[in-house]
Amino acid sequence: MTVRAVWFRRDLRLNDQTALAKAIEHTKDGDHIVLVFHIHPVLNETFTPRHDYFFQTLKSFVDQAEGTGAPVHFLEGEIEEAFTDLVEKTDADMIYFNRDETGFGKKRDDHMLDFFDSMNVEAYHYVDHHIHGADEVRKKDGGFYKVFSPYLKSWKELQKPAVQKVNHEKLSTAAIDKKSSFNKGEKAYQQLINRLSGNFPGVGEADALERLDQFLDADIYDYDERRDYPSVDGTSLMSRYLRTGAVSIRTVYHTIEDRVDFRKNTSGVDAYISELAWRDFYNMIYHHHPESKNKEVVEKYRGLPWNNDDDLLIKWQEGQTGFPLIDAAMRQLNETGWMHNRLRMAVASFLTKDLLMDWREGERYFSERLIDYDPASNIGGWQWAASTGTDPVPYFRVFNPTRQSERFDPHGRFIKEWMPELKEVKEKYIHEPGKMSKDEQEEAGCIIGEDYPKPVVDHKTMRVRAIEMFKEQT
Ligand SMILES: Cc1cc2nc3c(=O)[nH]c(=O)nc-3n(C[C@H](O)[C@H](O)[C@H](O)COP(=O)(O)OP(=O)(O)OC[C@H]3O[C@@H](n4cnc5c(N)ncnc54)[C@H](O)[C@@H]3O)c2cc1C
Repeated sequence: MTVRAVWFRRDLRLNDQTALAKAIEHTKDGDHIVLVFHIHPVLNETFTPRHDYFFQTLKSFVDQAEGTGAPVHFLEGEIEEAFTDLVEKTDADMIYFNRDETGFGKKRDDHMLDFFDSMNVEAYHYVDHHIHGADEVRKKDGGFYKVFSPYLKSWKELQKPAVQKVNHEKLSTAAIDKKSSFNKGEKAYQQLINRLSGNFPGVGEADALERLDQFLDADIYDYDERRDYPSVDGTSLMSRYLRTGAVSIRTVYHTIEDRVDFRKNTSGVDAYISELAWRDFYNMIYHHHPESKNKEVVEKYRGLPWNNDDDLLIKWQEGQTGFPLIDAAMRQLNETGWMHNRLRMAVASFLTKDLLMDWREGERYFSERLIDYDPASNIGGWQWAASTGTDPVPYFRVFNPTRQSERFDPHGRFIKEWMPELKEVKEKYIHEPGKMSKDEQEEAGCIIGEDYPKPVVDHKTMRVRAIEMFKEQT
């Protein structure tokens, strides 16, 4: 009899889950499967909105697994001890997991592969989080792409991995329940669950699939036209589910292929698929530049003289810069744990080029606040905006925050949704409320400098300074 442990991490679903599907497929009559989740000590150090959302998803998954007769066993504490305990208590002789290709997860997996080897536990691990893993999309000479458009061309030409069907019936027959031997882990899990706020909408596999359905019914066809307008629900909102693994990226891809009506205009569909490729692209970049969480990918930009102004940083974080779109975006982030992509670009550009603050400060703040925080995409996005990354926005093309506001929130609908103090400001002033006369400020119930701040910087001046800073380094 063989016991196969399936180690869940950020792949919290029961469908199209490679490690789970393979463990079940390899299981013969009389073999057992044990589902496990390890509560890493690092996970307990802080409890940010990102953790809150992640553990809500975990709870949803655990309840769902329990419902199919396959309980999840919690391991806790130092990782080697935790897995030694697992092997001792379940006699597991094989372990299955979907590997991480970047960051903390990759280091942990590399370490654990050696450890499993030393314990004579056979490890089976798979590329599951991305359509194409970090090593799959290569140039003709075998090298890796640094620029997205040729990467996309090659990405599109590759055969896409199929959905991994999970045999739930076989799982419920083979799954074992040894939870009573893992009381410490169960207690650690309950402690985390007790801290949940329960505030986030859209949690877990069922919600993910419902949202995908909704998006594919209509919105995807206009995605290319509507995706840049934050007041419109024009994007898929799949990032939180992809990050926690509540939905598989293969399921997203193949459901599009199966469901889309190719007789309709499909430019929206093409645009959407290329966004999925950006996700793979940044995973590849982070894999090949493991230092990029802390260091600029472009070497000559290491050591730029960024500003170090805590006061400005706090104003940016709290949405008090005096630039309405930037402030509305930050409040959306602080209140919901999500921010629209156009706004992520705008606030990142604002922090790095208008405030000349270090992009690492922004990356760190997003890492605490975003419920879809994905290190590879976040570092990629920040280094793109700071002009220090691969295929970035050129340093001399500095976003104008007021112009962004006029273009992408022309009527100020998004701004008014998040900024109660600007609710009564007339449309013609919504992008620059400081232009209101004293009387108009009175009338709008918004006194500049009291109810809403004056702009913390002059964009024109800062644009010139930003360009000079880069020029001097070139
Ligand atoms: C500064 C900055 C930081 C970012 N940080 C993150 C992050 O931590 N986590 C994250 O998932 N995305 C991040 N992004 C990318 C993007 O903003 C989000 O993926 C997107 O807003 C999520 O909303 P959605 O699911 O409705 O996206 P949609 O527009 O519906 O896109 C579909 C999916 O494609 C992927 N995608 C879309 N745009 C990008 C992109 N530029 N890079 C990589 N993948 C993309 C996401 O998985 C997304 O869910 C960041 C972008 C910037 C500019």
